[in-house]
Amino acid sequence: MIKVNSGLIDKIKISEDFNASACFNCGTCSALCPVGFDILPRKLFRYVLLGEEEKILESTDQIFSCLLCRMCEEQCPHDVNITENIRLIRNYLAKSKLGV
Ligand code: SF4
Ligand code: SF4
Repeated sequence: MIKVNSGLIDKIKISEDFNASACFNCGTCSALCPVGFDILPRKLFRYVLLGEEEKILESTDQIFSCLLCRMCEEQCPHDVNITENIRLIRNYLAKSKLGV
């Protein structure tokens, strides 16, 4: 059973630049990612919006493997701040897993 944390987005959204809710899941970003991640970015943002904290924690390696190259962001039709969103999720992971 999936445990939902309704406060997850508040923990991550420490900056007004976090705009995962602007994503409408078109898939353009996933198609353009040179690393070929299966969760980044759209699935990752969906997990955040749905409060699926465990999925985020399980995906730590992929989240930290993103190159922050912005190839996805350049072509996003909804101007999602993809790399800033990922940076803020990393910040959350660093605090929750490493306590830094
Ligand atoms: S390209 Fe933008 S709107 Fe489309 S799935 Fe990716 S982040 Fe969401
Ligand atoms: S920033 Fe680059 S590596 Fe990261 S998800 Fe976007 S395209 Fe892929």
